[in-house]
Amino acid sequence: MRIAVLSGKGGTGKTLVSVNLAATAKMSIYIDCDVEEPNGYLFFKPEDVQEEAISVKIPKVDNELCNGCRKCIGFCKFNALAYIKDKLIVFDEVCHSCSGCVMLCPEKALSEKEKIIGRVQKGTSDQVAVYTGILNVGEASGIPVIKKLLVENKLKADKHTFIDCPPGSACTVIESIKDADYCILVAEPTLFGVHNLNMVYELVRLFGKQYGVILNKCLEEENPAEKFCLEKNIKILGRIPFDTELGTLNSNAEIAVRKSEKYLDMFSLLLEAVTREV
Ligand code: SF4
Ligand code: SF4
Repeated sequence: MRIAVLSGKGGTGKTLVSVNLAATAKMSIYIDCDVEEPNGYLFFKPEDVQEEAISVKIPKVDNELCNGCRKCIGFCKFNALAYIKDKLIVFDEVCHSCSGCVMLCPEKALSEKEKIIGRVQKGTSDQVAVYTGILNVGEASGIPVIKKLLVENKLKADKHTFIDCPPGSACTVIESIKDADYCILVAEPTLFGVHNLNMVYELVRLFGKQYGVILNKCLEEENPAEKFCLEKNIKILGRIPFDTELGTLNSNAEIAVRKSEKYLDMFSLLLEAVTREV
């Protein structure tokens, strides 16, 4: 079962939820798809880490063959090509590696070269297999790194797999939830939290995913995110209280369920609530 954990912005508790659910499930897989800012590994501190570089194909031009027709420039929807001072220039950073210009060039002046854009790491932490995607700074798209992480784990559907998604609702999030069986939306108890929750709520509905909400940082007072869920008839999987002990463990990059029975009980109930839904 593949469970994606999403939130409309960073700092909502997405990693807290994914890491602790994966640790509670024990023989599980944790995949950090937040490739621009992965931090799940800080909690798991995986051992026996293996690393693999991720590369994409970028066009390169043979200026001897290029006649300056600019057909490739007209084709590229990402403005990654320009013809300046009688030379075709490729802007690697914005190229999306579609290979279209290479196929289209009538003079066969374009070929492809490999460019490393990031890496994936795999290690273990107790019985949890920990996968981390890391995008190099300045790269336009983390999708190739996310694809590699998820393809690698496609054959292991027998285990509980927790996908820690990037924040927001951009294409990297869409890629991360594409094959998920269930989506957990993590929400904060503020009006801004409702705005962020609504973003991911719209997204999972658009993609026809099953979903439920975990309300994080809950206080005794009124919770606008809870009100939103009740109004929209959204399943509330559970509530995590605003709790300084949990906050301290989390900010010290400790996995709460490995430190305290109280949190193990809480996340076991959340895991049960999720598995009942799928
Ligand atoms: S399509 Fe080919 S020949 Fe025309 S400008 Fe591009 S690289 Fe040069
Ligand atoms: S490979 Fe695609 S995105 Fe990259 S320069 Fe060519 S047309 Fe543009």
